[in-house]
Amino acid sequence: MNIIFLGAPGSGKGTQATMLSSELKIPAISTGEALRREVEQQSDIGKLAKSYMESGKLVPDEVVVGIIKNRIAKDDCQNGFILDGFPRNVSQAETLDSMLVSLGKKIDRVFNFEVGEEILIKRISGRFSCKNCGAVYNRYFKPAKKEGICDNCGGVQFENRKDDNEETVKNRLKVYHNSTFSLIELYQKKNLLVSIPAIESPPLVFEILIKTFQNNS
Ligand SMILES: [Zn+2]
Repeated sequence: MNIIFLGAPGSGKGTQATMLSSELKIPAISTGEALRREVEQQSDIGKLAKSYMESGKLVPDEVVVGIIKNRIAKDDCQNGFILDGFPRNVSQAETLDSMLVSLGKKIDRVFNFEVGEEILIKRISGRFSCKNCGAVYNRYFKPAKKEGICDNCGGVQFENRKDDNEETVKNRLKVYHNSTFSLIELYQKKNLLVSIPAIESPPLVFEILIKTFQNNS
């Protein structure tokens, strides 16, 4: 089964991809990771991708899809794969589709992890971590048991990522929704889209995912 996972930043789809990957014993492919590996291995396509990145340009869709193609051609993808975070727009979806056709493969199902905007904003902008041990907290959902003291190591210094402030997060979500709106429509038309309500904790969302999975296959 060849699967795509869609979801906004903070939707938790990466965690679900990891969980489903071990359940179905098929790899979860993150394009960022596959790209980094090709660059590290200094393969031809890796070198090409690197040349774009070094000149501050976006790596073109054809190159990214080429990298995914290399990854999908590996033995462990014979029974399927989960594409986590790709495609992000209709043009990427089309490039991906023709590549899959050339391999005699197709996408069987697209899962869209849905979380309301307000919660996404709190999930991301509320994040902070212990400077000492790296334990991750959330101001809204997972505060330290004793305010200002790390549960894990007793540390008292915390930090949060600069680009996690509310304004930046709102902008990132806007960009995400603008580019995926037509993509979701496209997969709906193709009858591949399954929506997963993803507000609950990861284990509960995973239960929903597995149930939906069984009902749809
Ligand atoms: Zn700590």
